[in-house]
Amino acid sequence: MADSESIVAVKQKHSSLKVYCANCQHCKLVKSKKDGGNQYYLRVRCTAGKWKKKLGEEKIYKYFTVARRSLPYCDAYEPMGDPQEFMKELKKSLPVRDEAYPDKN
Ligand code: SF4
Repeated sequence: MADSESIVAVKQKHSSLKVYCANCQHCKLVKSKKDGGNQYYLRVRCTAGKWKKKLGEEKIYKYFTVARRSLPYCDAYEPMGDPQEFMKELKKSLPVRDEAYPDKN
């Protein structure tokens, strides 16, 4: 039976193995056109099709929330680098709210 110190070690190991979708190659940034204007919002989607609504349609998230997308495990996870370093840098650059950007196309 594990003592309390080794239980803490196991929990730390598992928390460091958490999957951050933002650090996965399948997590893609896409533009979502704002209704009736020349502006767009930034959204993220999982190109492996893992983000689904209850009825099975694809779920797309607002870009500024992407750092919150994490899982204990994902069989399609394709890491792009060291997750801790990547997430630290990402959090510094993420917008704090859902912002509209001018669409120059
Ligand atoms: S494949 Fe898995 S880890 Fe990658 S973005 Fe989709 S749900 Fe997240």
